[in-house]
Amino acid sequence: MNYSFDYLIVGAGFAGSVLAERLAAGSNKSVLLCDRRDHVGGNAYDHPDAAGILVHKYGPHIFHTNSRDIFNYLSRFTAWREYEHRVLACVEGKLLPIPINLDTINRLYGLELTENEVEQFLAARAIACASPRTSEQVVLSRVGRDLYEKFFRNYTRKQWGVDPSQLDAQVAARIPVRTNRDDRYFTDSFQFMPKHGFTRLFENMLDHKNITLALGADYRELRKEVSFEKLIYTGPVDEFFEYRYGKLPYRSLRFEHETLNKEWHQPVAVVNYPNDFDYTRVTEFKHLTGQNHSRTSVVYEFPQTTGDPYYPVPQPANAAIYGKYRELAQQRQNVHFVGRLATYRYYNMDQVIGQALTTYRKLSQEDFRRDQSTNREHHPARSLQRV
Ligand code: FAD
Ligand code: UDP
Repeated sequence: MNYSFDYLIVGAGFAGSVLAERLAAGSNKSVLLCDRRDHVGGNAYDHPDAAGILVHKYGPHIFHTNSRDIFNYLSRFTAWREYEHRVLACVEGKLLPIPINLDTINRLYGLELTENEVEQFLAARAIACASPRTSEQVVLSRVGRDLYEKFFRNYTRKQWGVDPSQLDAQVAARIPVRTNRDDRYFTDSFQFMPKHGFTRLFENMLDHKNITLALGADYRELRKEVSFEKLIYTGPVDEFFEYRYGKLPYRSLRFEHETLNKEWHQPVAVVNYPNDFDYTRVTEFKHLTGQNHSRTSVVYEFPQTTGDPYYPVPQPANAAIYGKYRELAQQRQNVHFVGRLATYRYYNMDQVIGQALTTYRKLSQEDFRRDQSTNREHHPARSLQRV
């Protein structure tokens, strides 16, 4: 292959695909979008399994956001299915709502507290901390030690391989505590699943004549074969710089998928197992997708240190290493680092989409200023073959 492109984009997850779509459709740029996996969608990829049940290969993905702009943007590429996510935690043999709410506490302790009483219950147990720095401090300051140990301590150790006292506050702060009976996992104003799945959304997003897709293609090889003016990189930032400052830890998962010969397995889409088993949670996909099927498919998530990078690990030492990589990244003209792995941020999908749209606006302004200063027109798109 010997092609020339305006942009080479590495990674066909949300970060790379949103930028490919915007640059191709919004700015008439030619884009080569590559991924070393053999599919688009990054970690949000879904597909029908052997039984024909739509499953998420890399664990459950639920779209939620408070941004009307992001929701409207994605709505160009998909219709939606209304879905509010609910999760139960298996604690002492009981399936209890998580985030912790009024019902969690009443059912766990066999009480009949009212909202006011549960506020007093928590206030009496909370261990005050003016400005919590760690995940342990966040949870202790909200619910006290017993609930911390039953719902958070072991789950977090399993998920991250370290104690919550060693993890930044932002990790556990993702999970609120409620004194009412609201048992939704998220309270964002927009909570939906793409009606025909995430992969279809990505396919619609990338269906543009200016976009060439190279799947199963690693950037490190591909860059030798193509020329491009600018690079957008959404893979792990430490890998890009050949681990010059050492490896950044990314937490990995092993997914064990299974199809069961029964219609339903569990009452909600996700059940968390803080204290039992080596897996953290079990997801039953039909709850998410609304699919009718006589059988059901589930996935178990086993956290591990090695393997595909899924989560940046929010700890001060890692932030310091990332800071050094960020400095290197900022020195690179014409290379832009976007997304969860490239900016080492524990971002949800909507945050990654927001970051990609912001990067697009920045790139457009740069192009506009350059064109003005050189009095140049944007050149028309070249017609390219799929590779
Ligand atoms: P990715 O999706 O990781 O895409 C990066 C891509 O780059 C990958 O496909 C990779 O193969 C490719 N790549 C890397 N290096 C190279 C290379 N050298 N050459 C070619 N390709 C390369 N968010 C939510 O909003 N809601 C949820 O419910 C939710 N659940 C999640 C559950 C799990 C188990 C995980 C792990 C994440 C979840 N997320 C969720 C977060 C969500 O997955 C991310 O925010 C989002 O997918 C990140 O998109 P991205 O494009 O930055 O990265
Ligand atoms: N967490 C926990 N117990 C739970 C749910 C979450 O301890 O039942 C903690 C844990 O540290 C987890 C973090 O809160 O990693 C964030 O949870 P979330 O469900 O947002 O994780 P993700 O979906 O990103 O894996």
